[in-house]
Amino acid sequence: MVIFFFLVLHWYLSLFGQTFYLHRYSAHKMFTMSPFWEKYWYIFTWVTQGTSYLNARAYAILHRMHHAYSDTEKDPHTPHFFKEVFTMMMHTRRIYNGVLTGTVEVEPKFDKNFPVYPTIDKIADHIVTRLFFAGLYITFYIVFATHWWMFLLLPIHFLIGPIQGAVVNWAGHKYGYRNFPDEKDQSKNTLIFDFLMLGELFQNNHHHAGARPNFAAKWWEIDPVYPIIKLFDKIKIIKLVNIKY
Ligand SMILES: [Zn+2]
Ligand SMILES: [Zn+2]
Repeated sequence: MVIFFFLVLHWYLSLFGQTFYLHRYSAHKMFTMSPFWEKYWYIFTWVTQGTSYLNARAYAILHRMHHAYSDTEKDPHTPHFFKEVFTMMMHTRRIYNGVLTGTVEVEPKFDKNFPVYPTIDKIADHIVTRLFFAGLYITFYIVFATHWWMFLLLPIHFLIGPIQGAVVNWAGHKYGYRNFPDEKDQSKNTLIFDFLMLGELFQNNHHHAGARPNFAAKWWEIDPVYPIIKLFDKIKIIKLVNIKY
């Protein structure tokens, strides 16, 4: 039971960092926040992602490319040019690493307006830090696992970010319905209540209105992160930019 709670907690905390901070803030700037909160959420996102830490600049650049070139050959992760999800993710990884190391040329319009903390990034991206987090997960399992097969769940912790990315990027442009059939890409809404990916599976709604902080568009759709964003706005952790929504 403890292991199950740990897995669920890790899944949702890391996913919250991804959707709230990397996606809606770093890539889309749907809201602003003070330097204190920007740094706080940067560290939150790092610690919750742990072994599979993602750099905010590289995330923002790849994601802006995804919106600009959705489901074309210049999209870093479209399922429509790959037979299966693993090959697609390896392709995404190559572009991500290329952006980080400077071997992939980045269009200047994508390469600005995201949080940059080189010292935190240097520590978070270091192999020793990633191994430290892996050690923490393993230790937790050694202490709390009650059956041997539970250790088979450990790879989910090690690769939690890429697994979530794979689900969203593959399913979100392949399976589901479209509220906005005129969108030129193949984006879909996969779930009506996106409890699994915290709103990320409303890809069709999101591609239709990329700056809209609520990924749900119809009254019967639920994006569980939007009420949290509204609350954060109310208690002044963030300031929503698109108040018309
Ligand atoms: Zn998309
Ligand atoms: Zn987006």
